[in-house]
Amino acid sequence: MAQSRAADVGVRGGKIAALGDLSFSHAQSELECGGRIVSPGFIDVHAHVDADVVRHPGCDNYLLMGVTTLITGNCGGSVADLAAHLARLEHGGIGVNYGSLVGLGTVRTSVLGSENRAPDDGELAAMCALVEQGMQAGAYGVSTGLIYVPGTYASTIEIATLAAVAARHGGIYASHMRNENDRIVDSIREILRIGELAGIPVHISHIKCTGKPNWGRAGEIISMLSMARANGSRITADQYAYDASSTGIDVLFPAADLAIGRAEFARQLAAVPAFRARMKQALFATMDRVGFGDFRYARIASAEGNKDLAGRSLLEAAKLRTGRDDRDAQAEMAMELFIKAAPKRVQMIYHAISEDDVATFMAQDWIAIAADAGLRVEIDGDKPHPRGYGHNPRVLGRYVRELQVLDLSTAIHKMTAVPAGIFGITGRGELGVGGIADLVVFDPDSVIDRATYEEPTLPPVGIDYVIVNGCVAVDHGVVAKQRSGVVLRRGREKL
Ligand SMILES: [Zn+2]
Repeated sequence: MAQSRAADVGVRGGKIAALGDLSFSHAQSELECGGRIVSPGFIDVHAHVDADVVRHPGCDNYLLMGVTTLITGNCGGSVADLAAHLARLEHGGIGVNYGSLVGLGTVRTSVLGSENRAPDDGELAAMCALVEQGMQAGAYGVSTGLIYVPGTYASTIEIATLAAVAARHGGIYASHMRNENDRIVDSIREILRIGELAGIPVHISHIKCTGKPNWGRAGEIISMLSMARANGSRITADQYAYDASSTGIDVLFPAADLAIGRAEFARQLAAVPAFRARMKQALFATMDRVGFGDFRYARIASAEGNKDLAGRSLLEAAKLRTGRDDRDAQAEMAMELFIKAAPKRVQMIYHAISEDDVATFMAQDWIAIAADAGLRVEIDGDKPHPRGYGHNPRVLGRYVRELQVLDLSTAIHKMTAVPAGIFGITGRGELGVGGIADLVVFDPDSVIDRATYEEPTLPPVGIDYVIVNGCVAVDHGVVAKQRSGVVLRRGREKL
């Protein structure tokens, strides 16, 4: 890990041409960075920007956080035709450097729809062929989201078979594991097993211990992973710097019942009393499992048909709509939201992580920093997770400067060289002569996030410049019109 030193940085033709005292050199343009940190551009390997990026290729919210490189296609979801997608972005221009994984959920849906069963031999071969296609298009590996439909229906062997295809191309297997709460240890065993079976490095996406009964277990998880790493397992992880997650309302319901699809699920909730009664019991079980006894921890981010409830917890929403806030009223509220929005997904924020655990994971120098965000556009009154506008500055301001969970060099390392190394992104993530000039210039004394759950799109402060491939992409909070990112294909990055 490189330590900081005082130096000028000379950039030419998109690359770092010189480092050191350049006070006697001349440049076409000079940026005053006195007293600032000049860091490699931040690399975020857990993005969800797949389809949206076509309409919003600027990726402004990421640039404003200092992120210059994204890996998307996480949690099992990617675009179906990666080659065409990358070509299109290349043609139209993109604000950040952009690479993707092949989502095994997307692959499964292409062949099996949302069916809750194993593929037969022919279907599995078809799925392998799709992974092969994605890897040939330049994917960095494969991803799963094993709490989601259809990932939740995939067996360990099925995943390992598909991951083995990625392994042949030097890819990685990244997973939103089957369980991040009471069975997290089983989930880690599964991902390690997939690594062994497929001969592939494995990566835990957004590592965390969710649910109150699991708070305080981060140390135990770190011990388990450190032991596996010491014994030769190629296992890594990333995490975001918040004590709340964000995903659909679907995860409150049993995954097995969601195989019928969101529209049919909603129809049965509305019209089949026995189904509705069973789902209500399932919601009560979720309240107990997560440990709060009700849904006070579940905040509505975006709900089609109930736009005015964005920002409120299910408890508050139930109280507002019915005057009652007991468990029954909260469960009814969750079902009403689902029915109204279907087939669209109700987006939620779950405050079910302890900040002590966040800090414990954050202190590990091998865990990458990644926001798990998407593009924050067309928000229209919604209250998405603030990580889309605050993430990296929050690590630097809150966890480095205020809480002193880790030092500045380690934090930068975890946002740059660590993710680049894990995902095999070459030529980026380090500041050296001959390297690509992706840079962030920030003030270590003032950099911090401003985005909150109430105001999730406030940009951060303390970042002076963001430079992508040698071009100024952000100048004091203003994003340049010109897009200077490039499309990244594994093993074929232009250096
Ligand atoms: Zn995920």
